[in-house]
Amino acid sequence: MEIKAPRGTRDILGEEVALWQHLEEVVRRNAHLFGYEEIRTPVFEHTELFARGVGEETDIVQKEMYTFTDKGGRSITLRPEGTAPVVRAYLEHGFFVRDPRVRWYYLGPMFRYERPQAGRMRQFHQFGFEALGFQDPACDAEIILLAWTIYRELGLSDLSLELNSIGCPLCKPHYVRRLREYLESRKDALCENCKRRLVENPLRVLDCKNETCQAVFREASFPSIQDFLCTECRRHEERLFSLLKRLGIPFVVNPRLVRGLDYYTRTVFEVKVHTLGAQDAIGGGGRYDGLARALGGPEVPGVGFAAGMERIVLLLERSGFPRKGTFRVYLAPQDEEGEKDLLALSQVLHEAGIPFCLDFASKNLRYHLKRAQKMGVRFVVIAGEEERKNEGFSLKDLVSGEQMLLSREELLGRLRKERETC
Ligand SMILES: [Zn+2]
Ligand SMILES: [Zn+2]
Repeated sequence: MEIKAPRGTRDILGEEVALWQHLEEVVRRNAHLFGYEEIRTPVFEHTELFARGVGEETDIVQKEMYTFTDKGGRSITLRPEGTAPVVRAYLEHGFFVRDPRVRWYYLGPMFRYERPQAGRMRQFHQFGFEALGFQDPACDAEIILLAWTIYRELGLSDLSLELNSIGCPLCKPHYVRRLREYLESRKDALCENCKRRLVENPLRVLDCKNETCQAVFREASFPSIQDFLCTECRRHEERLFSLLKRLGIPFVVNPRLVRGLDYYTRTVFEVKVHTLGAQDAIGGGGRYDGLARALGGPEVPGVGFAAGMERIVLLLERSGFPRKGTFRVYLAPQDEEGEKDLLALSQVLHEAGIPFCLDFASKNLRYHLKRAQKMGVRFVVIAGEEERKNEGFSLKDLVSGEQMLLSREELLGRLRKERETC
């Protein structure tokens, strides 16, 4: 057997773990401050949930899902995204009756069969927020503020926020008709994929990254959905704009930013960063007032945001994320009695909240000092005959080279002080 993780998956270990823990901590703390509670949905769901909730005609459902038949003959899919499971949970537990307004966040692995590349894996991780039961544009602003706050706190700069409205079932069809007409007239300039999509769902044509197609979208006469919004959709959008201005969050309106599925309504947004070249979106979201109904539930308004964590970790890595020196003490026994003394000391250190590492492999001081250095630990506590005679411990500072004999109390006091200044 080949000792290798499957293509598109990887182990997160060593120094990188600190980056992930930092990111997760920032997400959790901010979500909590904004009143979002964690929800943990299963890693796999019935395939139908994603077929309906993500959309039959999307690339995700058509090409990228990990779908299999389980031993009971059910079609099961590893979740490719987090929104459909969250809305499924909302409906299943009857929140629309007993507590219709919820704010939830999630964090965890997702699965898509894609070509792996930097920052894109087959098992990848996302965090996201979903606010269900809120119709007001203030909730759109709240979600954007939360996402923005997290990016800022992570120290990511060169961010931009792109916004658009894709209307509602009342006004969207007028735009779709006009868009189809326009694209028909420019059909010769479109790629094969777009020609096909043009018939099925012209809005999805705008997702095409092909340069010649992009050139068509940039034409001055290209129809903008902004010209087709109904009064209610326009009011929603204007209110959101004024709230974001009040919050000091800069944004640009990008009328070509769309989500092609029917249940997406009004607000769509994307956060972009300008250091990743072509793959510059690091999160996005929008309003999905039609999703609960598409899943077979009642009408429930919703707005959400999701971000891929791999890309953010890459950015943190490149920005030289300040790795906090983790304070730890190395315990070096010189003989069996010393081992006993240090094991007893570890209880005291544990109580004082001072992390430690006790190595039983050797009684040789040179071995211990080398090992401590390799682990990046600055302070070594030594216990042997000499220390026992003096009813204390020796503390060696590997940076200054200084070593002193201390009583247990003196040692604790010194370590506490060092930890604070670390
Ligand atoms: Zn409308
Ligand atoms: Zn195209």
